[in-house]
Amino acid sequence: MLPLVPDWAHHYGEFWRAIRVRNLWFIRLRYFAALILCGFFLIGEFLLDLNFSEEQIIAILSISFLILSYNIIIHSSQNYVGSDPHKFNCLHLSLIQMILDLTVLMVLVYYTGLIESPLYLFFIFHMIIGSMVLPGYVVYLAAGLISFSFTILALLERLHSIKNHFISGLSFGSQPHTLTYDILFIIIFSLMLFISVYIANRIAHQLYKREQQLRTSLEKLNEAEITKQKYTIGVVHEIKTPIAAVHSILELIHKGFVGPISEEVDKKIKRAELRTEEALELINDIVKISKLKLLEIKLSDVINICEFIGKVIDSFMESAKEKSVNIFFTNKSGKQLVVKSDKMLFELVISNLIANSIKYVDEGGTVEICFDDFGDKYSIEVSDNGIGIPEVESKKIFEQFYRASNIDKKIHEGTGMGLAIVKEIIEKLGGEIKVTSPSLLSEEGKPGTSFEILLPYKFKQSAYDIFEVNNEDYLKSKNDFYDKTV
Ligand code: ATP
Ligand code: MG
Repeated sequence: MLPLVPDWAHHYGEFWRAIRVRNLWFIRLRYFAALILCGFFLIGEFLLDLNFSEEQIIAILSISFLILSYNIIIHSSQNYVGSDPHKFNCLHLSLIQMILDLTVLMVLVYYTGLIESPLYLFFIFHMIIGSMVLPGYVVYLAAGLISFSFTILALLERLHSIKNHFISGLSFGSQPHTLTYDILFIIIFSLMLFISVYIANRIAHQLYKREQQLRTSLEKLNEAEITKQKYTIGVVHEIKTPIAAVHSILELIHKGFVGPISEEVDKKIKRAELRTEEALELINDIVKISKLKLLEIKLSDVINICEFIGKVIDSFMESAKEKSVNIFFTNKSGKQLVVKSDKMLFELVISNLIANSIKYVDEGGTVEICFDDFGDKYSIEVSDNGIGIPEVESKKIFEQFYRASNIDKKIHEGTGMGLAIVKEIIEKLGGEIKVTSPSLLSEEGKPGTSFEILLPYKFKQSAYDIFEVNNEDYLKSKNDFYDKTV
């Protein structure tokens, strides 16, 4: 296989991503090129008084058709071409495109007058495009071959060994220039080709290097974040052990296992017990979010979304009944969507949103959950007619420990970590979360809130490189995450 990948790019996902994106641009541009070519013929023939010969008309139209045909084939095959440097990859596809483009362009330039053709400038454009994708030596070779073919064709035309195809209406005769003009033209044209390749190649290389540096810095930052999270888990674990011990001792005293206590002392002990419970809950949330940040998600659970939401709602029926809250579920799409996801993380998201809605509505309030399918992604919206969220705080509520200013902390207990955990999971799943207040269920004095999550069907890995997490490692890290007894 022809080595087309620069050494520094072999394991560099960003490089392959950029090549794929650029290949796609060129495919789109080529559809335009075929249209522009037909336009060139029509405008030239009917508006500019150019008289194309029969041979020229056949050449222009068949080249447009040819460009369109091979572009459709390349477009449909590009998704099947991988990024393995040792196999046929997207760079080889770029090379094939370049060879096809330059060949048809050379034929087109020949049939439209060669040196007289206004289309020869497209060679420069191709050299710049080629330099953005292919290694320097390939593009320099292409520039050399173009100059060589151009010179040979010009020479053969001058010797009348091949026919001149000047466009009548663009030039006066069959040989409008002197030999010196032709020589000068070819020298300057070749120079322009090589200079364009040189400049474009330098810029492309610099760009890739910068991207690589950015990537390395990002990796270092990620490593630092991992160290920070591990440190947090360690410290919090150390804090949790004595607090848990204090909590059990308080429980023993409160339950009377260490002898009788006065009512006054019992009241204080109960209060202390509650405070230690709050602290333990907070510690669990901090550990949960830190472990979540360290968790590599692998989507291996098959989930029927509507069925799953139904089960989560069922688990809230008891608490909803206590507060006379009505919960409704609507499947807007009418379909049963089955996706691959992570059951436990998914449940954590939905249950956090429903728990919030139940917590922040008044007695007799309403909570509505809607599911919709948009083809490539699905949405789950949890709306209520509760106390709502002040607009200025709608972004801050996703920060750790943040609780909005309109809640009464004595009535609405909580640590302010729920939505931070939800956001972390949604981002890991490649989705997004939006909040709107007032919601569609708003009533007088109850603005309500609506949280909408949008999730893609298939979890997208970055930079096209398939990254498989080792199953055992994954299960270990996942179990670790759910182990609440840290
Ligand atoms: P916990 O960590 O125990 O869930 P919490 O509910 O206060 O505590 P989050 O779930 O992170 O924390 O929510 C953050 C803040 O966002 C809440 O304190 C509340 O002010 C606001 N909020 C969240 N959901 C709603 C809702 N459905 N209606 C009104 N306010 C909400
Ligand atoms: Mg909450």
